[in-house]
Parts: sequence; C-alpha cells; structure tokens
Amino acid sequence: MKPIGYVLFGQDNGGSFFQNAPRGVLCEDCQACIDLRYAPSDLKIDTFYDLSHTLDNRLICSRRAKDFFLERFDVLISEVGAWRGNSLYHVSPKISVPFSAIRRGTRFLDRCDTCGTYKSIVGAAPAYLELESLDKECFFKTDIVFGSYAEKAPLNVIGEETQKNFTGLGFSGGVFKDVFSYMGLLQLPADRQ
Ligand SMILES: [Zn+2]
Repeated sequence: MKPIGYVLFGQDNGGSFFQNAPRGVLCEDCQACIDLRYAPSDLKIDTFYDLSHTLDNRLICSRRAKDFFLERFDVLISEVGAWRGNSLYHVSPKISVPFSAIRRGTRFLDRCDTCGTYKSIVGAAPAYLELESLDKECFFKTDIVFGSYAEKAPLNVIGEETQKNFTGLGFSGGVFKDVFSYMGLLQLPADRQ
C-alpha cells in the first residue's frame, strides 16, 4: 500500500513544554493540556534541530523551519525561547484532518471526570486518514490526540512534496512515518466480491 503522506515527528530535544506551566494550563486530575493557547516563553532544550519534539510531544522549530511553515500553511506560531542565540518556535497546524480510529483500532481509555477528555488514547501508528489523498504540499493535524497526560497531542501530517522540501532545504531533525488512506481499503478484497 502506497502512503498518501507522512506523520512529522522531530528528534527529541530534551525539553519539557509544560515544565513551568502555571495553574490552569493542565487539568489537575489527568494532566491533559486544557489551555490550548499556552506556550512557554523560557523553553530549555538540550539539543537543537530545525525540527524537534519536546519530551511532552510538542513540535519545536528553528526560525528557518518556522518561516517555511508560515509562508505556506495556516499555522499557529509561538516564540518559546532560544538556544544559543537561535530563537525557538512552537508551530502547530490550524486545520485538522479525520484520523480513522476505527481502521487503526485506536482505543480511548478512562475518561477524566474533571476535564472530560480521555486520560489515554493509544493506537496512532500506522496512521490512517479518512481521506482519499492528501495535497502534495500540506501541513495538517489529526482530529484525534494521542498519548497520556500532558503529552497528549494530535499528529502532524505533511504531504509528499513538503517532506521532500525539508530534505532539499537540509532541515535537521525530521522523522517521517507513513500515512495511509482508509478510503482506499473500502473496496472488498477480490475473493469477497
Ligand atoms: Zn482531566
């Protein structure tokens, strides 16, 4: 089966996005992020890449990578700190695409009585979307978050050409996992027609 795009991960940068988050940003019961506008201003990281992830699963970009996203896509951007004079940015897509929890068998465990979110959502990979295809140049988030506690976050999805651009521009830190279409699987296998 041919992928329709990629999930974008970054190398771990050793930072914690929510380390110094004030009260009210995380649910006091399950630690889920309940203030989606929050971003730190003093993020500390151990290792710098153009594309990286904090330990709690937030995408952090160099200025170059941030500019790349900003020029092409509908994104939210927060400046979150600096590493040796290089500004760091949290970048997230504004537009979401439907993840196929049914095809993947994603499980939603233990709803939190305080904030109403599930405490744990498991089964993100391999990623299936309820779309026939993705634009070759795109940057979207899934409509489902994955993980537990503060690390719960949507997957970031990019198009084939976007991934090639990262490579062409020499962006460091990008890690890419295949994304598949669930729609393509709705046809019955030959032996069942
Ligand atoms: Zn909660």
